[in-house]
Amino acid sequence: MTRIETILLDRDGTLIEERHYLRDPELVALIPGAAAPMRRLADLGCRFFLASNQSGIGRGLLTPDDYFAVHARLEELLRAEGINLGGAAFCPHGPGEDCACRKPRTGMWDDLAARFGLRPETTVMVGDKAADIAFGQAAGCAETVLVLTGHGPSEAAGLGLEPVPSGVRACPPGPGRPDRIARDLGSYLELLVQNKGRVHAHRL
Ligand SMILES: [Mg+2]
Ligand SMILES: [Zn+2]
Repeated sequence: MTRIETILLDRDGTLIEERHYLRDPELVALIPGAAAPMRRLADLGCRFFLASNQSGIGRGLLTPDDYFAVHARLEELLRAEGINLGGAAFCPHGPGEDCACRKPRTGMWDDLAARFGLRPETTVMVGDKAADIAFGQAAGCAETVLVLTGHGPSEAAGLGLEPVPSGVRACPPGPGRPDRIARDLGSYLELLVQNKGRVHAHRL
């Protein structure tokens, strides 16, 4: 069993409700059910980090200041739930810019790992897109998890995965597939809490 130290999260559709190119802090809403297990995992010594593609900046639909205002509101909502983020990274580039940081590329992992001393073998990656899963796998994370909030249902279908009505399931192996599929972030984090923050190497 591996003791998980780092929980790396996609932002839109995973930690907060998906809004198309979110730029209004008033529209930030936490996905229900995640805060309680986040607090318990923090008590177990886990730290939470965000890695978010924000191509709306590159597309001219929002500015870096919009991103920071949304992030400030997100941190405020989390603090109200007793949760502090360890740190966050975002990619401001559009898909055509060929940057090193847009997921599934691993620039944001390299940045966070260097700034905060993160280790992939004690990190899980949770996201609502295949790019999040490929990112976590390329970073060498202990486990990757696709949630069925945000874009999760269509992304799961694209990977040939059946949606789960509740809870968390192990995924049959296949190209680009996550280790686990979960109804939502809270469902997966509850499972981690039950396992005292531990996962089997590459399988819970
Ligand atoms: Mg997302
Ligand atoms: Zn980038």
